[in-house]
Amino acid sequence: MLWFVFYNQKLLVKINNDTIYIPNKEDLTELETQLTKEIYIGRLGNSPCFVAEVTNEPLSLPVGLNYESLRKLYIKSEDDIFRMAGRAHQIMNWVRKHQFCGQCGVPTKNKTDELAKECPSCGATSFPRISPAVIVAIVKEDKILLARNINFPTSFYSVLAGFVEPGETLEECVQREVQEEVGIEVKNIKYFGSQSWPFPDSLMIGFTAEYADGEIAVDNMELSHADWFSCCNMPAKIPGKRTIAGRLIEWFLEQKMPLMPK
Ligand SMILES: [Zn+2]
Repeated sequence: MLWFVFYNQKLLVKINNDTIYIPNKEDLTELETQLTKEIYIGRLGNSPCFVAEVTNEPLSLPVGLNYESLRKLYIKSEDDIFRMAGRAHQIMNWVRKHQFCGQCGVPTKNKTDELAKECPSCGATSFPRISPAVIVAIVKEDKILLARNINFPTSFYSVLAGFVEPGETLEECVQREVQEEVGIEVKNIKYFGSQSWPFPDSLMIGFTAEYADGEIAVDNMELSHADWFSCCNMPAKIPGKRTIAGRLIEWFLEQKMPLMPK
C-alpha cells in the first residue's frame, strides 16, 4: 500500500541513495501529524495507492522522509511513479477545491461507486477536472517554429502551446493559438500524441502542422521571440525528451536528419 501524502502542494517521499520511493503505511507511523482527505486512486504494479494531505507540517520528519515538489520528482523519479504522483496531485487539488457544493454551498460527500463528489442537498456531482491544451510543431520546408516564452530562461525555446477554449475543436484551437501568438496560418494539422501534465491539471494534446501563410509577429504577451530553426541551427536549450514538447522537436529532427549518425 503506497501513500501519496501532500503538504502545501509538496509530496512526501522516501529518498534512499538518491532514489525516490513513495512511502508505505509503515513509513508514516512516525509522522507526527494526522492524514486527512484520504482517497483511493488506483494501483501502481500490485500496490494499492492512496492520496491524503496533512494540514500541519511536523516540526521534524522521520529520517529518510522529505517533502519534494512535483517538478523535482519529474526530473528525478521513474515514469510510473511520476505518473501516479501526478494523478495523486491532481486528485488532491480537486478534493481540496470541492469540499463544498459549488451550486448550493453544502459540504459534499465522496461517492462510493466512482471517483466523484456529490452534494447531499441538491445532488450536484463533480468529477476531477482536467484542462486540455494543444501543443504543436509547425514545420516550414526544413525548419521548425520555436518560440521563447516570456517566463522561460534566456535561450530556452519550445513549440507553441495553449489551452482549449469552450466550444472549439482541438484543430480550431491549434489555428487560433498559432494565429494569436505568432500571427501565421497553418494547414495539415495532424494528431501526434498526448501527455498528462499535472502542473496543475493539464492534458497536453500534441499536433504537427505545416506553415500555410503569413509572417511571424509575436504577441509580446506570452512570447518574447519566435523564429524558424533548422536542424543544424537549433537554440541552445530545448525541452527534454520526457516531455511531449521534446518529443515533437525530436520528431522534426529525425525527419530532417535521416542520414546523420545517431
Ligand atoms: Zn448542492
